[in-house]
Amino acid sequence: MLNDYPSKSASVGPGLYIHVPFCRTKCNYCGFYSKPIAEYDAGAVVCAMIAEMERHESLESIKTIYIGGGSPSSLTQEHLLHLVNRAKLLCPAVEEFTVEINPGHINKALLSKLRSAGVNRLSIGAQSFIQRELDLLGRGHTVACIHKAVRQSRAAGFDNISLDLIFAVPGSDLNSWKHNLQAAIELTADHISTYNLTYEDNTPLSRDLAAGVIRSVDEDTDRAMYELAIDELTGADIIQYEISNFARKGFECKHNLNYWANGSYVGIGPGATSYLPGARSTNLTDFTRYCEMVRCGASTLEESETHNSLERACETAVLNLRRRCGIDLAEFRTRTGFNAMQLFAESIRKYQELGLIEKTGGRIFLTRQALGIADSILCDFALV
Ligand code: SF4
Repeated sequence: MLNDYPSKSASVGPGLYIHVPFCRTKCNYCGFYSKPIAEYDAGAVVCAMIAEMERHESLESIKTIYIGGGSPSSLTQEHLLHLVNRAKLLCPAVEEFTVEINPGHINKALLSKLRSAGVNRLSIGAQSFIQRELDLLGRGHTVACIHKAVRQSRAAGFDNISLDLIFAVPGSDLNSWKHNLQAAIELTADHISTYNLTYEDNTPLSRDLAAGVIRSVDEDTDRAMYELAIDELTGADIIQYEISNFARKGFECKHNLNYWANGSYVGIGPGATSYLPGARSTNLTDFTRYCEMVRCGASTLEESETHNSLERACETAVLNLRRRCGIDLAEFRTRTGFNAMQLFAESIRKYQELGLIEKTGGRIFLTRQALGIADSILCDFALV
């Protein structure tokens, strides 16, 4: 059945993504680009990030800001607020301002200051409500910390709180995963993101897996956990609007909706990616070089690639199909110049016959049956 939100997905951007490349400690599963904060001059990097932001000419129209990482809450309160305040000032039209936080890093005073500074959405890295799982993941916070973080966030005035959850943690089963989902629902999360654990190369968890110290959850259980998340969250009126994301009506993440609409966004900070129609670029990851380039007014880009109109259309289709509302055929044509029904005729026919894609109301979208195997389906839209 068609989930009709968001019907006006074209108007949610542009966005500003600020990448804080630090964490206090490295989680056992983490393959993201982040460095231990104690080993670097974070203040110098934050100053360079602000300078990079200030030299952008086009921030007046920014609608969403997302400070992620890494772990933004690994910064000192002073550095984080400095970043928040400058971003808010430079983006007067912002409607949604999210900061990712680790439940073990925050306190009442910081939350109140973030709220007063204009942050109106928190993304809390809960990951699990089972202490054994948090320890195995190396999260460095407790279950009690998550409850406290949500309580204090609500008290500070945050009425839009997202929780991240990881499933298929070694030793977990459908019952323990249900416990995690129920705990997030009971905490009245407005938005929930669920991801299955992946074993990234050169992480403690992948080494333990290779050494036989831990066993991964089998594929069938992994899939069943995903299906359980859809059932449990939907049953609690937390609606799936993207393959891995669920929200109460009106609490969908606008920043990410812009991303799935293939809208423009500006990335700030070491390793951050920016996207303007037809061109994607990534900043230098090396802190020293990044700071030096900002200081002398030179380009901070490490790489950039341009996409022709066909590549752009394919990229748009793949991102749009991640949304439960799928591709709006009229909007797609306006944005890309292509007729999606013609461009992807073969794949659409094949997956319609298999019951994995549906066409209704001027849209094509993945059916529920397709969600668990979405990656393999989306590959066919990436290559025409
Ligand atoms: S907090 Fe996030 S970015 Fe930092 S180490 Fe853990 S998973 Fe990686």
